[in-house]
Amino acid sequence: MSELTGWGTDVGIAVCPHCDWRYLVPAEKTTLRCPHCFAAELDLVTEGVEQLPYVRPPELVTPFTVTKTTADKRIEEFADGIPFAPRDLNPDALRGRVQPLYLPMWLVDGDVTATWEAEVGFNYNVVSHQERYSDGSGWATQQVQETRIRWEPRVGQLERHYDNIVAPALEQHAAMEQALGVYALDNTQPYVASILESALVRLPDRAPEAAWADAAPAFQAAAGEECRQAAGADHIRQFRWSPTYTSQHWTLLLLPLYATYYLDDEGQPRPVLINGQSGRVFGARRASMQRAQHTALIIVAVAAVLFLLSLAVGVAGLAVPPLLAVGGIGGVLALCVGLGAIIPIVRAWQFNRKPVETL
Ligand SMILES: [Zn+2]
Repeated sequence: MSELTGWGTDVGIAVCPHCDWRYLVPAEKTTLRCPHCFAAELDLVTEGVEQLPYVRPPELVTPFTVTKTTADKRIEEFADGIPFAPRDLNPDALRGRVQPLYLPMWLVDGDVTATWEAEVGFNYNVVSHQERYSDGSGWATQQVQETRIRWEPRVGQLERHYDNIVAPALEQHAAMEQALGVYALDNTQPYVASILESALVRLPDRAPEAAWADAAPAFQAAAGEECRQAAGADHIRQFRWSPTYTSQHWTLLLLPLYATYYLDDEGQPRPVLINGQSGRVFGARRASMQRAQHTALIIVAVAAVLFLLSLAVGVAGLAVPPLLAVGGIGGVLALCVGLGAIIPIVRAWQFNRKPVETL
């Protein structure tokens, strides 16, 4: 039986020829833009699907808790307040292109037997006295409380089961986490086929064996924290252990996000991502230098017209002297307006000086 049938609905595999991201897509959707780079349409994979890794359905899904209406609001806030925003960076265009998407992540459960050693720290207060001088009362002794840590060595044995240790299923997991924040795992639900009605699913590109390198330190951190609690200590350091792992069980979990994009000055797509659980937005907010330059040119043109009019009035002033002064004032005004052409360029340049976050 094909692993694809396990998804409970008619699905296919599609790959982006530009960024190489691989997706699970509803079978009836034939033209889809890649919701990662937005630079190309996805190609349906028709051959060798069975040989592809990790095309099995996930066990768990973190549902979208950010509604479409809230996502629209976040998009409006994203597009708001950008001076000379690229024409395509507007709420309507961004909203019209929103694609719900799920990213994969591994969760690993397992039993650990280990001997461990560490230093555990206990807070204690010391009271000291400080002499202080104030204008009103002269010298006075003040009591000062200070918290210090007493460190004690500990060794022990540990036999525990750990649940839901997070491990990346994507090479870009760390970058994605930095962009979108860490997802809370307290609302996971079993996978149901209906999530595929509107959303695409990014397939993992990292095997559990590769992800283990990231999961092992998380096991150690969880164990260290438990040993601290068991010792009733406030701190723990130098936690070392020699663990033996057994009964590992890997679960695939999907995380929700909305993806959309706008085209920049060069016509390149700029992705805008919204965390489907927290509503956090990630994307490059850039001013359009082209639009700033265009505005500057209009100002220069207005200044030129004003100057020519002033010149004409000035020439007429040779016959009617009072007009000479009007022409002079007009000339100065034209110069001021002309200098103002620099403002749009400077504003756009200043806005774009902020570092651009990219994935
Ligand atoms: Zn792509």
